[in-house]
Amino acid sequence: MEITKELIKKKFAEYNWLYFYGKLGRCKFYFFPRKTSKYGFYLTNKDKNGRLYGTIWLNKCVDWTEEMFKEVLIHEMIHMYNRMVDGRLADSFLFNGLFSHGFFFGRQCRRLKRVYGIVIKKYGK
Ligand SMILES: [Zn+2]
Repeated sequence: MEITKELIKKKFAEYNWLYFYGKLGRCKFYFFPRKTSKYGFYLTNKDKNGRLYGTIWLNKCVDWTEEMFKEVLIHEMIHMYNRMVDGRLADSFLFNGLFSHGFFFGRQCRRLKRVYGIVIKKYGK
């Protein structure tokens, strides 16, 4: 399937209320500017008033299935939850690569599995 920004926005809003208590706040969506093997990526940004917002990057060139898309989007939303709700600084490239799949990430994965049967493991970064 092909993913569009409209689809991502819609699913983000839906999953935010379904799985993250509606707490995630403002997020912008982008596609990776060039070919990469990554599926998705999360980064926190700051607007000109100093307010934080999330950015989620997805790969437009992947042959997405609905299941993969859901898993990757929720994976990136867990990073956003860790940053915005748990207050963890998992938003630099270094942290995202090395440290951001630690305790706080795992805790959300376990909650989603326990409550909703959602398994997050394969795709996102
Ligand atoms: Zn990740």
